[in-house]
Amino acid sequence: MSDTVQFIETQDITDIEITSENKCDFCSALCCSYITQELDTPRTMHAFDVLLWQVAHKGIHVFKDGNGWYLLSMNKCEFVMPDNRCGIYETRPMICREHSNAACERDVPIDEGCDLYFQTFEELDNYCRKRFKTWDKRLEKFEAERAKAND
Ligand code: SF4
Ligand code: SF4
Repeated sequence: MSDTVQFIETQDITDIEITSENKCDFCSALCCSYITQELDTPRTMHAFDVLLWQVAHKGIHVFKDGNGWYLLSMNKCEFVMPDNRCGIYETRPMICREHSNAACERDVPIDEGCDLYFQTFEELDNYCRKRFKTWDKRLEKFEAERAKAND
């Protein structure tokens, strides 16, 4: 399992039947620990170069699943309380209200089921090298063009 999701139990669940009613009581608010943002499907070297810059930042991952490409930011919502409950439950956003615990992050890590998942610069760089024959040459080309423009 990757470090995408840390499975942290908050109570001893031995001998306790987990139901939809009590499931969240035994979870460290995994679904409140990240955000995703849908991306335009990257196709060009430039688009992947931008993703490379983004994934170079701590906690920023990129994945592709059956719905498309997404940026994932591993940052806990500031309203998660010490007991892992929502501190603004009455006014929480719609997306939080729509989220079901039927088949959620507690059951399946975020990266499971993705077609592609990149957690680091190196992972995405290696993918791009396979995808684009001239991937490494892009930097050389860029620098040559800039030098020419400055002549
Ligand atoms: S919905 Fe799932 S991930 Fe979210 S708090 Fe409940 S059990 Fe945890
Ligand atoms: S607003 Fe509440 S339910 Fe929504 S992500 Fe934050 S803590 Fe979770």
